[in-house]
Order: sequence, then C-alpha cells, then structure tokens
Amino acid sequence: MAKSRFEYVKEFERHDVLLPQCYIVVRIDGKKFHEFSRFYEFEKPNDIRALKLMNAVAKNVVVHYKNEVIVAYGESDEYSFILKKDTNLYNRRRDKIATLFVSLFTSQYVALWSKFFTDRELDFKHLPFFDSRCVVYPNLATVKDYLSWRFVDTHINNLYNTVFWQLVLKCGLTTQQAENRLCGTLSNEKQEILFKECGINYNNEPEMFKKGTVVTRKGEIVHIDVIKEIDQIFKGY
Ligand code: ATP
Ligand code: ATP
Ligand code: MG
Ligand code: MG
Ligand code: MG
Ligand code: MG
Repeated sequence: MAKSRFEYVKEFERHDVLLPQCYIVVRIDGKKFHEFSRFYEFEKPNDIRALKLMNAVAKNVVVHYKNEVIVAYGESDEYSFILKKDTNLYNRRRDKIATLFVSLFTSQYVALWSKFFTDRELDFKHLPFFDSRCVVYPNLATVKDYLSWRFVDTHINNLYNTVFWQLVLKCGLTTQQAENRLCGTLSNEKQEILFKECGINYNNEPEMFKKGTVVTRKGEIVHIDVIKEIDQIFKGY
C-alpha cells in the first residue's frame, strides 16, 4: 500500500514485550459485577448459573489457546489464565495478549449467557464487561504461590459471604448487624457461627463455592484443593 505523509504517526506506537522465559498470568475481572449481579438478581452469595457461565466461558478460552495455557483458575467474577513460560503468543506483546483474552472472554460470556440464564435476557443497557492484566512471574515457585493466593482468597471470601448472607437471609439480621457480628472473627469462629446460629456445616457447602474452579489445559472443569495439588498441577512446567 502507498505510504501517505501521515504514516509517521505509527512510529509513536510502543509495544511492551513481556520478559522472556517468565510465566505469564492473564487475569480478567468483571467490571462492577456487584451492580451487575444485583441487576440480574444473582442468588447471594453464590449464583450457580453465573459461576457455571464463567466456567464454560473460561473453558472455551482455554481450548482456543490450548497450546499456550497450563491451567486456568476462577472464582466469583474473575479468571486467571496461566501461560507457559516459553510461549511466543503474539510475540509476547502485552497489549495483544491482555486485550485478546479479555475480548474473547467477553464475547463468549455474552454468547453463552442464554444457555445459563434461560429466563433472563441480557439488557442492552446492562451489558457485561471485564478488565484484564498481564503479570509475569519469573519462576515456578512464584507462579505456584500466585495460584495458591487466588485459592486462599476464594476460601476467605466464600466463608465470609456464606455466613454473612445466612445471618441476613436466615437469621433476619440487617446487613449492618451481620457485618458487626463478623467483624474481627477468625475463620473457625465464622464456621461456628454458621453451625450454631444458622445450622449449616461449612464442610457440606458445594465444592465449587469453597474451592473455586480449575480448568485444565485439556478443558476439564474440576474443583480441587489447589494447595494440596499444586505440584501436580505444574508437573512438567
Ligand atoms: P470492580 O469493577 O472493581 O471489579 P466489582 O463490583 O466487580 O468491582 P469485585 O471485587 O470484582 O467487585 O467483586 C465481584 C462482585 O460480584 C462480588 O462481590 C459479588 O457481589 C458479585 N458476584 C460475582 N459473581 C457472583 C456470583 N456467582 N453470585 C453472586 N454474586 C456474584
Ligand atoms: P490482525 O489480527 O493482525 O489485526 P487482521 O486480519 O485483522 O489481522 P487488519 O490489518 O486488522 O488484519 O485488517 C482487517 C482486515 O479485515 C481487512 O484487511 C479486511 O480484509 C477485513 N475487513 C475488516 N472490515 C471489513 C469490512 N467492513 N468489509 C470487508 N472486509 C473487512
Ligand atoms: Mg477489579
Ligand atoms: Mg469485578
Ligand atoms: Mg472480582
Ligand atoms: Mg485486525
């Protein structure tokens, strides 16, 4: 194509290339999903349809990038995709990787919505969108700690949210009272409140809620103890 005198503006573009031989984590997170979940009346604290939709979307993303992904992990409105350290995807350009993962995720989320929310159409004025970032980790130890960090986060959030919503929905506390009741409590105290005051044994809660979701590079969806299985997950990488 003939060059115009305007062509020089292209020189202003910068390409941030991610460090070689480092694991790349792409983490996407729903924008304002607190509001989004309220608008679509998600069940609190865990709407199964929404979680299954996230998992189905993540699976399709993993399958699309099956030669690059080691594993993906998701909870709530977020998903992390962990890429091989030697991947040459988009010449390791940060913008390309972050934006293509998140736009594929978003278009899949919209496309699969009606499969999981059968009686609620997406509203043109309340469409889902996600942010995305790439983080590089220099060795296997830190990338294992990354995944363990997200797993522990799932546990902490889910335990809190489970007790909180039980106190509100079952015991009739206001949200403020529930917040005060849980302020400063340790993990075992929360489990005790849940058992004694709400009659619920946390151990019997669904695995998907307690553990989040792992998508293997083969596209299998499993709910496992990530910390226990961490060496197995990264075996060979
Ligand atoms: P931001 O735009 O900063 O990410 P956010 O409102 O999305 O803000 P997050 O910290 O990402 O905040 O939290 C996501 C929120 O979305 C949760 O706190 C919860 O209220 C809601 N949410 C996400 N998934 C579900 C689900 N499966 N069931 C019920 N609520 C959910
Ligand atoms: P990359 O993934 O690197 O962006 P690409 O194939 O999208 O590769 P572009 O330089 O972005 O390459 O060019 C977009 C191409 O898409 C055009 O060259 C053209 O072939 C096609 N295209 C885009 N919009 C239209 C359109 N409205 N009508 C017909 N063809 C189109
Ligand atoms: Mg966020
Ligand atoms: Mg969010
Ligand atoms: Mg989130
Ligand atoms: Mg293009």
